Amino acid sequence: MADVLMEKIISLAKRRGFIFQGSEIYGGLAGTWDYGPMGVALKNNIKNVWWKTWVDSRSDVHGVDAAIIMHPRVWKTSGHVTGFNDPLVECKNCHSRFRADQIGWTNSESPLSGIVCPECAKEDWTDVKNFNMMFKSSIGTVEDSASAIYLRPETAGGIFTNYKQVLDAMHPAIPFGIAQIGKAFRNEIAPRDFIFRVREFEQMELEWFTHENEWEKWFEHWRENMWNFIDTVGIDRDKTHELEVPKEDLAHYSKRTIDFEFDYPFGRKELYGLAYRTDFDLKGHMEASGVDLQYFDQESGERFIPHVVEPSLGLDRTVLAVLLSAYGEDDAGGETRIVLRLKPTVAPVQVAVLPLMKKGGLAEKAQETAKALSTHMIARYDESGSIGKRYRRQDEIGTPWCVTVDFDTLEDGTVTVRDRDTMKQERIAVDELPTYFSQKLTLGA
Ligand code: ATP
Repeated sequence: MADVLMEKIISLAKRRGFIFQGSEIYGGLAGTWDYGPMGVALKNNIKNVWWKTWVDSRSDVHGVDAAIIMHPRVWKTSGHVTGFNDPLVECKNCHSRFRADQIGWTNSESPLSGIVCPECAKEDWTDVKNFNMMFKSSIGTVEDSASAIYLRPETAGGIFTNYKQVLDAMHPAIPFGIAQIGKAFRNEIAPRDFIFRVREFEQMELEWFTHENEWEKWFEHWRENMWNFIDTVGIDRDKTHELEVPKEDLAHYSKRTIDFEFDYPFGRKELYGLAYRTDFDLKGHMEASGVDLQYFDQESGERFIPHVVEPSLGLDRTVLAVLLSAYGEDDAGGETRIVLRLKPTVAPVQVAVLPLMKKGGLAEKAQETAKALSTHMIARYDESGSIGKRYRRQDEIGTPWCVTVDFDTLEDGTVTVRDRDTMKQERIAVDELPTYFSQKLTLGA
């Protein structure tokens, strides 16, 4: 049953231009996926919601867009060069490779006894080896150890290294945040579950710099903001759960972490993380670079290294959770209708304008209407296939409203607006459409 739903989502994503296998015409490249026309629009809308609510609408958060390739010392300081390892094990019989912890191995001391290979059911393992997940490349024309660089495994590194520059340029008073959206790369041993675990993905991360005394208050603040974001983009709240990460499982830098988990068809797994990272990062970068990263509080005269609360959100996992939350099948006049009940704010097409037929000036009128609406929202003109087929297609990509231009439009200036969820139709004057939709589209709709 679970697999069936994933199959349906993957097939819809491909059929309707959301997500394609990366390098598909060459047989695909494992752990990479490409976003098509609908996927990139959905992703951009999600990013916009995040940026608008977490950056643009607040005067205490500043955005950055750092280079993906950073000085390798950044990743030595952060602990990624030595510590960003997954336990790799190989089946000697069928040569399948697994992350040992994902097939039931728990104790770093014990061998893999009693666990059989999920592929061939034999029990014949290599030793568990530490495998560093960072992608390595080299910079410049000479390839030697001095030229080795990494593709960033998380966007946070580019925030910590720009903390001082933002401080000097913007003079923010503490507490304040620095936010970034961008690509991250991890050489996952076993990429799987569509866009859930991939080797190249996007993150939306925010580092909140605060006085140590106040971290708990801000932890709650960002926890609430994460829930608001989950609601705004249309992730099913009932399928989302907080997991207080037990002390013994916390990352070495963290004193408290909450994982936000989602009930995917393949199990309850991580969607986002919210971590209190203490002063670990700034302290480390200050020691390693020799640059003073302390904050000077003019009011109290205190000089200190800020502590950090970090909400970290994976964009691809957001897309997957949004698609899973929106997917539905219902009965439309005796036929099964596939529908994505996306929030209008994130829908790749927010209104489709359809001429009833191409003839008699209807196409021109519909094109003109789409163009006028496109200054207010994502509006698309669609003329191919019967009107019924077009409604189905728009339902499948989650278009909340279809506007149909017919012969009455030419007479009295009204159109039919069809609502995706109720399938009800109402007549509205073309001139009133911008106001009608902008009321419905206010953020959070
Ligand atoms: P997991 O335990 O699932 O590997 P993680 O705990 O390593 O995840 P973090 O390092 O906390 O993940 O990364 C922050 C966020 O980035 C995650 O909550 C997730 O949304 C996203 N993310 C991490 N790894 C991947 C991946 N391989 N593919 C897609 N998204 C990812």
